[in-house]
Amino acid sequence: MSDEQPAPPVQQTVEIFGDLADVLPYTQPVYRRTIQTRPVTFICHYCERTVTQQRFPGPTPRYCGDWCRYQAQRAGTRARVQRFRAQHQDHNQEDHED
Ligand SMILES: [Zn+2]
Repeated sequence: MSDEQPAPPVQQTVEIFGDLADVLPYTQPVYRRTIQTRPVTFICHYCERTVTQQRFPGPTPRYCGDWCRYQAQRAGTRARVQRFRAQHQDHNQEDHED
């Protein structure tokens, strides 16, 4: 299994509708823009692996995949429950984390 291999770039064509839509048929976009993914290297917040993935421009992803995001959400829920219990057992106020 080699999931470390960087995926090829993905192109996506975005259709832009604007003011000119008044003079053009509604089904015809004013222009098309092609956005392309680029390799983004980041550290997964859950498994702490350094991964490089093809991503569309935007915020840096936090998790290397759906599985890690799912696990992190579960872990986050568990941590919240534990904090909640701890707070209500011995009035320990924890500092804001993160
Ligand atoms: Zn991960």
